[in-house]
Amino acid sequence: MSSPDYFQTAGRSGRALEDVMLIDAHAHFGHGPDFPIIRPTAKALVASMDRLGVLLSCVSAIPAIFGDAEHGNALVADGIREFPDRIFGYFVVDVGYPEKVTAQLAGAKAAGFKGLKVWSYGARPGLPYNHPNYQPVFAFANEHAMPVLAHVFGPELDELEGYFRRFPRIRWLLAHIGSAELEKYMQFARQYPRVYVELCLSTCPRGLIEDLVASGLEDKVIWGSDAVFLDQASQLGRVLFAQIPEEAKRKILGQNAARALGFTHRAE
Ligand SMILES: [Zn+2]
Repeated sequence: MSSPDYFQTAGRSGRALEDVMLIDAHAHFGHGPDFPIIRPTAKALVASMDRLGVLLSCVSAIPAIFGDAEHGNALVADGIREFPDRIFGYFVVDVGYPEKVTAQLAGAKAAGFKGLKVWSYGARPGLPYNHPNYQPVFAFANEHAMPVLAHVFGPELDELEGYFRRFPRIRWLLAHIGSAELEKYMQFARQYPRVYVELCLSTCPRGLIEDLVASGLEDKVIWGSDAVFLDQASQLGRVLFAQIPEEAKRKILGQNAARALGFTHRAE
């Protein structure tokens, strides 16, 4: 076996990464829908970030995803105010109540949000992403060239595909690659310049990151942890110890996210 690289050495030693643009593109504040989480706060997340060397975490609120956008978004807005350099906010709207959506979106930018998070019920009864209620949401993201982090667990991929062409200014982060429909996630990342795939997943399929890089997708894979559902450290370890070149790790751990989130630009 080859000698350990910088990332493996840092991971084994438990030291924070240094000189790495480390961005967690998928994190949360707030308690679960039917279970408590220990200290699901901005302060606790930033402490975790400091232990690992994470510069920026991109956060949506769990209560917002599960039907209470107003209170959930307020948690994230507070976090952005408290840690403006460390927290990037994804805004969530109550898509089940279209009469509320326009007013909710109007307040998003003023509260400091720079992205949207959507969480479809596509795999169960409710509103799939191709339901008309999502139109104004994605139209808003397109108008403001905001990134959209979309919860995906397989079936939602088909619901989203039509939007990739219709809303060309949105950069899409398709969450939870490895959950299901792996080939389709990869095909979309290959086919659509503004579609990225995001890694957080509790089951951590063995060899997934190696396969993605071997398939030529190292510019399209983005690290996210799903903190505070999951621990940032365990999800980070999946990339630190992957058998891929160091340069690919740098891309996956932050350079790709910087592009997807609109911090850096490159011709697409
Ligand atoms: Zn999540």
